[in-house]
Amino acid sequence: MLMNSNPLLDFSGLPRFAAVKPEHIAPAIDSLLAENRALIERLAAPATASTWEAFVEPLEDANERLSRAWGMVGHLHGVLDSPELREAYSANEPKVVQYWTELGQNLALFGKYKALRASEEYRALTPAQARIVDNEIRDFRLSGAELGPEEKKRFAAIAEELARLSTQFSENLLDATNAFVLYLEDKGELAGIPEDVLEAARAAAEKDGKPGWKFTLQAPSYLPVMQYADNRALREKMYHAYVTRASEFGPAERDNTSLIAQILRLRREAAQLLGYANHAEVSLVPKMADRPEQVIAFLEDLAAKSKSFAQRDYDELKAFAARDLGLAQLEAWDAAYASEKLRIARYAFSDQEVKQYFPEPKVLAGLFRLIETLYGLRIENDQAEVWDPAVRFFRIVGADGALVGRFYVDLYARETKRGGAWMDDAVTRRRKRGDVQHPVAYLVCNFPGPVGNKPALFTHDDVITLFHEFGHGLHHLLTRVDYLGVSGIHGVEWDAVELPSQFMENFCWEWDVLREMTAHVDTGARLPRTLFDKMIAAKNFQSGMQMVRQLEFSLFDMHLHWDFDPVGGRTPLALLDEIRRKVAVMMPPAYNRFPNNFSHIFSGGYSAGYYSYKWAEVLSADAYGLFEEKGVLDPVTGARFRDEVLAVGGSRPAIESFKAFRGREPTVEALLRHNGMAVA
Ligand SMILES: [Zn+2]
Repeated sequence: MLMNSNPLLDFSGLPRFAAVKPEHIAPAIDSLLAENRALIERLAAPATASTWEAFVEPLEDANERLSRAWGMVGHLHGVLDSPELREAYSANEPKVVQYWTELGQNLALFGKYKALRASEEYRALTPAQARIVDNEIRDFRLSGAELGPEEKKRFAAIAEELARLSTQFSENLLDATNAFVLYLEDKGELAGIPEDVLEAARAAAEKDGKPGWKFTLQAPSYLPVMQYADNRALREKMYHAYVTRASEFGPAERDNTSLIAQILRLRREAAQLLGYANHAEVSLVPKMADRPEQVIAFLEDLAAKSKSFAQRDYDELKAFAARDLGLAQLEAWDAAYASEKLRIARYAFSDQEVKQYFPEPKVLAGLFRLIETLYGLRIENDQAEVWDPAVRFFRIVGADGALVGRFYVDLYARETKRGGAWMDDAVTRRRKRGDVQHPVAYLVCNFPGPVGNKPALFTHDDVITLFHEFGHGLHHLLTRVDYLGVSGIHGVEWDAVELPSQFMENFCWEWDVLREMTAHVDTGARLPRTLFDKMIAAKNFQSGMQMVRQLEFSLFDMHLHWDFDPVGGRTPLALLDEIRRKVAVMMPPAYNRFPNNFSHIFSGGYSAGYYSYKWAEVLSADAYGLFEEKGVLDPVTGARFRDEVLAVGGSRPAIESFKAFRGREPTVEALLRHNGMAVA
């Protein structure tokens, strides 16, 4: 095959979805990898000057080509999966991963970055360029590039061991989850459980050749039992099994207790090799938060301000359970059940009812109008090759008619599409030899498509998801940064990435905005205010209890990786108990082994980072607070948000962007208010 006929190697315009075939993948990736490796060898050689032009720019160009080609493959893998494509994807993925690993360990390149950082030229670079150089040096350091030979060996061994332990942790949890099976034959024991759940349980039993119904600890089976089963003994049995997974209550080979101890020890050792006191400090280096103390103070502040609301939620639940459900003592296995009953008693409305008011054309038009109003832009239909006939393509133009960016919208679920919703970049904005390369984004959701001659109807949750992903999309598309590494969402701190997306969600709770996006599919009537008020009340149902629960997990994670001594003899469970006594309103039974299944922090990359969920919520709520002060559709505030937050991407620290927009440090008041926890 001729290389120039390979559409994956055509970077002249938009991705050529009509032409790309699975057989293009291996030749394109092999050729790009070979080309890039040859180039890197040249760039890393002593003869190459340590200047932006001599090595950073050519390296960015080369990596961009690989990212674009592989990004297109990854995109198709996500939205148009076929056995041939999956095979080509899996065959090429290790090669690409290997390339990035090599690059991150190339000490000659690290030397070039350091030389550039120390040179006269560095002071003349734009802030965006300087930040790219700084980020590169930071990442090299954090992967151990500056250690001596012995330390480097130890560091690599720890990394390998940690990877193994994390995998073991999640495999133990999975095995323990799957090990529990409960077959029940008496339908009388199953009262309250929804019919569709029972059907699935019966089919599962049948598949095993058993009579009756099969229940497991997997979410689709476990959660409905906890939420709906009237049978208290059944709930207790399932709860006990669930919260003791991968602990000393089960077989020793699936017990995660000693893995936790080893992981914590090794993380601390690795941190100390890098010159830090603990893993929390290392984890925060590439994040927006500066110090563990700052994160702890933030979490404790939120806890202090929300605890009374959590207590109120809990007292209400206890009183309701005692009075209406005959549960004199509210146990851990009663909480979800009683909450669901209380929720229905208070806010009876169905998603189905709400859905009739959100036909797709109205929602999309409302979203576009909001973006146009806030940022002084226009969104127009455009044409491009697409991967499915249902995909649409749009362009964003400025007030002067100039192109800003373009995006694909792929809304409906398909068999060939992976679950969830996401935004991804197809092309990133940068200036190349004077010319601007305009950004292009993919916006992908999994909503139910149109049925018959009616438009697709969205639940309110769907609308929120759409706004959320568009928030990421605007962060990518409205950037004005000229350099790839910090343009759009690139180089944005991990705990700040969700600010623009969660920010957009706020508009879905704004009556003046939401009302304009509704028209009953049959009558054309707008969403009634009474229904909207119920939706708001339901949104804040038990928000206090939910808040302190998240804070409990976040504090546990941060203390565990900061001031907890992994060899001091105290157990993580004892630490968790102490935190619960401070912030929680509901104490679980003593046999609860939550740490043993906290896979976010022991196998999911969230170690000393779990707080970032709340952190981003606070930032986005506080940013939105300025719109509430100035008018939610105020274009002046919109322009400021665009200029100070969206347009600058990763080119400066997120906290500076936030302060430039808000005029002060972030505070938690707006989030509390939005959750119905305003302090009088
Ligand atoms: Zn997101």
